[in-house]
Order: sequence, then C-alpha cells, then structure tokens
Amino acid sequence: IDWRKPDDLQGYAPICLGLEDFYVRRLYLRIQDCFGRPIAGAPDAWFDVVERYTTDNFKTIKRTSKTTRCLNLGSYNYLGFAASDEYCTPRVIDSLKRFSASTCSARAAGGTTRLHTELEESVAKFVGKPAAIVFGMGYVTNSAILPVLIGKGGLIISDSLNHNSIVNGARGSGATIRVFLHNTPSHLEEVLREQIAEGQPRTHRPWKKIIVVVEGIYSMEGDICKLPEIIAVCKKYKAFAYLDEAHSIGAVGKTGRGVCELLGVDTADVDIMMGTFTKSFGSCGGYIAGSKELIQYLKYTCPTHLYATAVSPPCAQQIISAIKVILGEDGSSRGAQKVARIRENSNFFRSELQKMGFEVLGDYDSPVMPIMLYNPAKIPAFSRECLKQNVAVVTVAFPATPLLLARARICISASHTKEDLIKGLEVISDIGDLVGIKYFQAEPKKR
Ligand code: PMP
Repeated sequence: IDWRKPDDLQGYAPICLGLEDFYVRRLYLRIQDCFGRPIAGAPDAWFDVVERYTTDNFKTIKRTSKTTRCLNLGSYNYLGFAASDEYCTPRVIDSLKRFSASTCSARAAGGTTRLHTELEESVAKFVGKPAAIVFGMGYVTNSAILPVLIGKGGLIISDSLNHNSIVNGARGSGATIRVFLHNTPSHLEEVLREQIAEGQPRTHRPWKKIIVVVEGIYSMEGDICKLPEIIAVCKKYKAFAYLDEAHSIGAVGKTGRGVCELLGVDTADVDIMMGTFTKSFGSCGGYIAGSKELIQYLKYTCPTHLYATAVSPPCAQQIISAIKVILGEDGSSRGAQKVARIRENSNFFRSELQKMGFEVLGDYDSPVMPIMLYNPAKIPAFSRECLKQNVAVVTVAFPATPLLLARARICISASHTKEDLIKGLEVISDIGDLVGIKYFQAEPKKR
C-alpha cells in the first residue's frame, strides 16, 4: 500500500514499532478488531474531526456523512473552562482585540505584555512558589527546561512512566538517566543508594547535581504520586525534586492547588514545580515555578524564553481569568464548586465502574480513569461502539502503553452533570459486556 494516500489506508492500522530507543517506525497492517471488522480506515476509528466543543462538555464530531453530538469522556477539560465561560470568555475576546492572537515576538525581544507578567505572578501565587516563568507549550516546558537545569555530569532519576516530554528533555540534557519503578519510593531510594552514599555532602559526590522527576497524576495510569515519600527520599539524598503537575494542578486539592495541597506536602520542599495550562485552565502553555533565583536564571538562559514566541495573549488571559475564578476572585463561588464537583464526579464514576466489574487503574480523587482492555483488537471495537451511542472516549495503546496493556482512558470533568455520567456509565457497561472487558465480578445492582 502507499501509506501517503489516505484512500489506500482503508482497513489498515498503524502499528508503531520501536526500533531504537528514540526512533519509531510505522508499519501499516491489515488487522481486524475482535468482531472481525477491519481495525482502521472506518470513519469513526481515528480520524474524526471535531466541529465544536460546548460548555456542557459535549463535542460535535464530523464523520463522513453526518455530524454527531457526543458526550465527551476523553478531554482534559477537568474544570470545564474549555469552550466558553461566563467570566473568562469576554475577557479573552477583549485581550484578543487589545493584544492580538500573537505577540509575534519572543519574550526577551519585546514579546512580554502586561498579561505575561500578570500571568507569572498569578501562577506563582496559585501554586505557592516565589516566582514563575511561562512558556507557549507544556510539552516544550519539560523538553526545553530539563536541558537548562542539568547537563553532562548530572544525574536525572525519572519515574518509569513519566511523560514523553520529560523523557525527551532528559535525553536532550546529556545528563545520565536512571529510571525507578513507577511510583515506588523504595526503588527510588535503591537507585539513589547505588549512585551515592547516604549523607555524603553535595560537593563530595560523583554527580554535579541530581534531579528526581515525577508527575502529580500519571496520565496513562490515573494514579497519584506518592509525593511525601518521594520528597523524603530526595531530602535524605540531597536530590532536587521536579514535579510535573500537568494533570493535577487545578484538578485535585481542596482549593485546586494540586498534589501538594492534596497530600499535605509543603511546596517549599518541591524545588521545581512544572505544570501545563492545557487541562484545568482550558488554555495553552506551561509553567515552571520555583525560587526567585531559579526563575531569574531561566529567564536569562532558557533558549525557549529567549528565542520562542511568547504565550499567545488571549491564552494568557484565559489562564489569568480561570485562576481568578478558581480562587473566587471573580466574586462568585463557581470556582470552589468546580473543584468540589470534579472530585465528586471522579469518585462517583470510578466507584460505579468498579462495581460493574471493570478493571480501573488509578486512585480515588484522580479524574483520570483507565479502563483496561488489554487486547489491542478491543480498542477500535470499544471506541467505535461508544461513538455509535454518542459517547466519545480515548483509547490508548502501544507505544504509549505496553503492547498488551491497551486501555480506554476516561477523563472526568467538573462540567459533567450527574445525568451525563449516568448515561456514560450505562453505555460503557453495555459495551463492556459486548466487548468482554469486565474482568471482575460485578456487584449486584441495588434496587
Ligand atoms: N506533561 C504531562 C504529564 C502531560 O501529560 C502532557 C500532555 N498531556 C504534557 C506534559 C505536555 O503538555 P501540553 O499538552 O500542554 O503540551
């Protein structure tokens, strides 16, 4: 087949083969789903185009012949700020008129607007650090910052399931990389002990610097970082702690301030706090928050700050406004309700899925809920049947997960109503029976 011609791809699925560490090649194979239907090429399998998002977290998907309004159970719109918001949207439109969609300049070359400085102050205050710096993309925040923080002669110890942006940043830094078992502080300690003797002062160690990198909530697993234990190990071995809060900032904690607030960790103990604006804040970009000295250093040395175009002003305004709503500075209690709602919704959905007999990964309080499918052939069957019943879910497979650990990943939002969630559960339950993915005994239904 000619893989450059979309028509030739009908009925073929892209299979990614990791040939070398950093080099992934795609093969297109004709394979079937668990009902014997071709896995790819069907209009609803992978190539749907979204026509619009709405505030109630539905999205309209354009398929070849018709458009369908679907309950969106796959977006990172944790607090429901994506699509229009009564407080944020008018301000975003105003900022678009005043500052335009792009600064057309790097931050250090005249691209720093009033919104950028306000955004950095508000992010620092929100996450509980003295200062912050923002970037145009979350992915780039990790991949560009790690090489600025550490290089040859340094050691990065990374959770085995860290996001690809961290992996790329670590590789690009030139530092030595060691990996510890996912979310296992005792193994982190073992790895550290192999590298340095306990109690050795920083100046007498074989490494110029050690950075331990973890995530607040893991996006493919839905579990919450064992942060207090990780921090204790970092302190014991004098390693810097780098925390990626892409999925936890705004989404967990009593006032939405992330895993530190949720788990009672002092933010002073996390040296580098990273996060993205693409989830809870319904915008674009990423941040690093830390000490004034660290942020000042990044402003003078980070190539992304010096050479890349600044965060789009309307995106900056969206984040500033969303933070104001979360903090109640818009004069309403909507923010507090959103933060309480995402927790309620997530815990309700998770417990119902478990009662139905699904194998659901992750922790309570986490809005990320992977439902295990295991067999890759169940992926298109599951997502296609969900779409038929107007429920949009995201399925993830190799190379984002190991080959035989395919899963459907549900993301819950504060903007889902109880009725939405019940509808979603009914559809998932029916399809779970059809596709055969209820691996546990279901609890009898209460009358
Ligand atoms: N870090 C983590 C843990 C992520 O899951 C993601 C993307 N989902 C990123 C960084 C990159 O963020 P963005 O999509 O905002 O570029």
